[in-house]
Amino acid sequence: MIGIAKKLITPLVWVTILLAISIGTSYLIMKDLVNVVEDVQAISRMVELTGDLQLQVDRLLMPPNDYLITGNIKERDKYDRIAGKMRETLQQLRQQRGNEMWDSLLKKINEDVKKLAEMASEIFHIKNPVANKEAAVLMERMDAFGDRLIDEVGEYHKVTEKELLKKEELSRLKKKKAYTIFAVVMLMSLFSLPLLYIYLSRYVTKPILTLYDGARAVGTGHLGHRITIKTGDEIETLADGFNEMAASMEEARKELDRRLLELYTLYHISKVLNTSFETEQLLVRIVTDIGNNLNIHRVMIMMLDEKTQELYPASFTDFVKEGGLHDFRRRVGQGLYGLAAQNGMPRLIRDVDAEPNLSKEDAISPDIRSIIVAPFGVRNKILGLLCAFKNRPETFEWHDLELFTTVAEHIAVSMENVRLYQETKLQAITDGLTGLYNHRFFRANLTVEIERASRYGHKLSLIILDIDHFKNYNDAHGHPQGDELLRGVAEFLRKGIRESDFACRYGGEEFAVILPETGKDAALALAERIRKNIAEHPFPFRETQPMGTISVSAGVAAFPADSKNIDDLIKKADKALYRAKDEGRNRVYAV
Ligand code: GH3
Ligand code: MG
Ligand code: MG
Repeated sequence: MIGIAKKLITPLVWVTILLAISIGTSYLIMKDLVNVVEDVQAISRMVELTGDLQLQVDRLLMPPNDYLITGNIKERDKYDRIAGKMRETLQQLRQQRGNEMWDSLLKKINEDVKKLAEMASEIFHIKNPVANKEAAVLMERMDAFGDRLIDEVGEYHKVTEKELLKKEELSRLKKKKAYTIFAVVMLMSLFSLPLLYIYLSRYVTKPILTLYDGARAVGTGHLGHRITIKTGDEIETLADGFNEMAASMEEARKELDRRLLELYTLYHISKVLNTSFETEQLLVRIVTDIGNNLNIHRVMIMMLDEKTQELYPASFTDFVKEGGLHDFRRRVGQGLYGLAAQNGMPRLIRDVDAEPNLSKEDAISPDIRSIIVAPFGVRNKILGLLCAFKNRPETFEWHDLELFTTVAEHIAVSMENVRLYQETKLQAITDGLTGLYNHRFFRANLTVEIERASRYGHKLSLIILDIDHFKNYNDAHGHPQGDELLRGVAEFLRKGIRESDFACRYGGEEFAVILPETGKDAALALAERIRKNIAEHPFPFRETQPMGTISVSAGVAAFPADSKNIDDLIKKADKALYRAKDEGRNRVYAV
């Protein structure tokens, strides 16, 4: 991984190198240029000096010539002045830089100047120069030598002029080169700036903006947002860390959502459990509710039949494909369900195919791939199983098992509540001794049934029965034996009526039977059958009774034929009963 620091330093290093190269190159070019210019200046000076020298040589020949004409020795001073200037010029020329050729030329000139000086000195030593032949010869030689010197200096002048042209050309070329290099360096600098900008924006600015966008997305609740940064530096590490953080937040929120859903389901089911007091209705609502809230199609509650020790499906949701589950019964200890009921342990089957011990029958359908079985019970007694099914493997998890176990516990508590409620309710309407309905229920129920009969235009009959000479039985055999007889007679009533009829204990040894949708004749027949059965039954000590047997007298009244009013109807039946008593007992009369 290359760090941001390194990434930032790299372009800076490049820019610095570029700058250094530019400055270095510029310096070298400038130096070169200055050298060339200096050379040009020096050569120009040499051209100038050689020009001067040419003139001076020319002028130097004049004083000796004039001396020969005039004989004036002052010409010598003139000559010395010009010669002095010439020496200065030569001195200056020597100081200039030159190449070997120039140096040798200059040396030659110098020597020739010296020779010329000697010649001049020879002429000026002639006392009478005018029309002097010797002097004229010397002068001629000097003139010739002077001309040669002028030529030499001219040569020297030409060479320097040529050199000057060359140097000027070189200077032009160097200038051109300098401009070109300067332009290239400037262009490179100009290009390097946008390149640096692109580089920084790609590796620093853009990734940071991407991070910012990601943070905003996650901040506004889009927890599924992920960042892709491939810069290979700390920003990429930061992005990876960011993605991990978002993923764990997403996971945490999913978990929270799941928990919330579970809580909601629990709340909902608790509400259902607390409002319903009918077991069957309760069970139906639980499976429907679990199915709806947790989106599980198949839910089943199995209840334990205590007598047969068999589990049976008490309520279930969609098992259409399986053709319903009415025959699905399991013995305690048998298979998945029987074992769960036996040991009270919940079971999670994540994948049906990965469970070798699971029978095909217990898997119910090839559609079912994942199963939860949660037993519920009270006081170490299993009441039943809450089962849930999904059609994809690995769809139930441990937390689902926990949820279902909790729901199962709620079901157990509710079932117990329902049982207690129903027991209490039953106690409130049941007579403790005989198990028949009590007097309170009798009146309430008779009112309801009369109302119903009158609403639908149906008939209704009422039988009131009284045990004959019961005081006698009591007195002879004691109250406990009397109670026993009351229970025995009650049993005959219970057995002798239809499911839709109500047998009640009206008072001490008096009973009443409500017969909805029954006319007077049918009621009379029923009463007669009961009377007969009792009279014929070998109750203990029946022989001690005045009639030689245990018997009942009964009176029958019908609604609406005899009366449309509850109290009156009872009175009418009572009246018939008294008539039966009056006329000898062990008989049945209608009004
Ligand atoms: P009758 O043939 O005229 O009906 O005569 P009876 O003796 O049956 O009538 P009576 O009303 O004089 O007696 C009813 C008796 O029933 C009086 C009471 O001691 C008795 N009895 C009432 N309730 C109970 C009970 O719950 N248990 C017992 N063992 N006896 C009861
Ligand atoms: Mg009585
Ligand atoms: Mg009686």
